[in-house]
Amino acid sequence: RGFDGPSMFGHPRGLMTLFFTEMWERFSYYGMRALLILFMTTAVIDGGLGFDDKTSGAIYGLYTMGVYLLALPGGWLADRLFGLKKSVWYGGIIIALGHFTMGLPGILAMLEGGHVAKDTLSSLDTTSFFLGLILIVVGTGLLKPNISSIVGQLYHEGSSKRDAGFSIFYMGINIGGFIAPIICSTFAEIDWHLGFGVAGFGMVLGLIQYRLTSGTLKGKGELTDPASEVEVAHRRRLRMFTFLTIIVISLVVFLMFQGTIAINAAAIADASYKVIALVAAGFFIYVILFGGLDKEEKKKVGVIAILLCFGALFWSGFEQAGSTLNLFAERFTNRHVFGWEIPTGYFQSANSMFIIIFAPVFAALWVWLAKRHLEPSSPIKFAFGLILLGIGFLVMYFAAKVAAAGSLAAPTWLMFTYLFHTFGELSLSPVGLSLTTKLAPKKFQGQMMGMWFLSVALGNLVAGIIAGEASGGSKEAVAEMPDQYMLIVMISIGAGIVLMLITKPIRKLMGNVR
Ligand code: GLN
Repeated sequence: RGFDGPSMFGHPRGLMTLFFTEMWERFSYYGMRALLILFMTTAVIDGGLGFDDKTSGAIYGLYTMGVYLLALPGGWLADRLFGLKKSVWYGGIIIALGHFTMGLPGILAMLEGGHVAKDTLSSLDTTSFFLGLILIVVGTGLLKPNISSIVGQLYHEGSSKRDAGFSIFYMGINIGGFIAPIICSTFAEIDWHLGFGVAGFGMVLGLIQYRLTSGTLKGKGELTDPASEVEVAHRRRLRMFTFLTIIVISLVVFLMFQGTIAINAAAIADASYKVIALVAAGFFIYVILFGGLDKEEKKKVGVIAILLCFGALFWSGFEQAGSTLNLFAERFTNRHVFGWEIPTGYFQSANSMFIIIFAPVFAALWVWLAKRHLEPSSPIKFAFGLILLGIGFLVMYFAAKVAAAGSLAAPTWLMFTYLFHTFGELSLSPVGLSLTTKLAPKKFQGQMMGMWFLSVALGNLVAGIIAGEASGGSKEAVAEMPDQYMLIVMISIGAGIVLMLITKPIRKLMGNVR
């Protein structure tokens, strides 16, 4: 059967628990993300934070980078200290606290009967905003990687059901990602804080559901009991140490962004991407030279390094959904229909909606092609992903031309961009993860998975930095937009073509892996 314990629709009953927990977690993440850059760039007088594009883009990038980067220590902590199941629980609580912290100034303003001066509220907002973001980063780092690991553990080693399990799980992610922007943006129309609060409320529903049904996990994801007194004491010390470290680092980061320690978000974002790229390069060089690998393994690690570069490039375009493209919807898209103005955030649902519709189509397509021995190899699917990304931005090039000419672009432009980007995601993302696991040498499994997350983190960061430049914040900037989009088109499609050209040598390096 491929798994133990009670079943539901041919899958372990525990999958349903994890499905809904992750659905609500993604609900909170994407609901808040739909509002994030809009809230930052909206003027104080209109209830926003009044940051400029560059700063807002940098903060968006650093935040979304942080969420994926902390998956690395999050996985490690689960393995040594908390176990997967508890990590998901603690992570979810911290995430909910984060959203509520962001919503807090709204409650204070309400209690004061709306008599709080706009700038008092705004400084309160800055404090609670950064504190909230930090909590969400820490919480997601604990929850996101570990909940996926439990999904894997529900099935027997090598069970053919596992892939199907992950596809179902991915649906949960996107159902959350689909409904959240609509619901949270609707509430944010009344008050931004209400939008953030609703995101947190979703996470709470997920937590209640997790608590009530976690018996169905049948002990999966629990830490094995410590073997000795010494180990018990050791774990306790490590836990204390971890806890203090998180508090101290969070506090420093908080003081930096809140303004007590003077920093420049854009400069930090710029430095961060260089540091991440260097660390990743250093890691791969180290593993290849000193990792004690044989020749075949070294070649495979080389392939992972190459593909992750292209992956990072893909995500740095794709993840502009919540930054550059969100601002395009706000500033340059005609959102009026039948006398009603569609809230900007609604457009953030498009990607998840298209995933729900087209994921089964793509899955069927690969099977259909495989039957005819026509299924493209993994590097080719990667290249398709990049080219589709480029086509999506080509659509934006035309939309930006409309904006540069001084008119509002029709919403269809953005929708087609998201459609192409979703096709790109369906082509590249699932292959990336599974290929990384297949190519990774046994003793570097976990770390190579970490490198995949690192490439997603890097992409998210760059997506924020680009938004700081390419969102048409001023008159001159609007005129530059078409060229900026065209540059992204050239880079994405160019990278896709390069990858196609080097597919043959890459496949040689891959050896027995397809
Ligand atoms: N949309 C997916 C999720 O939120 C994948 C995002 C990504 O890997 N960049 O889980």
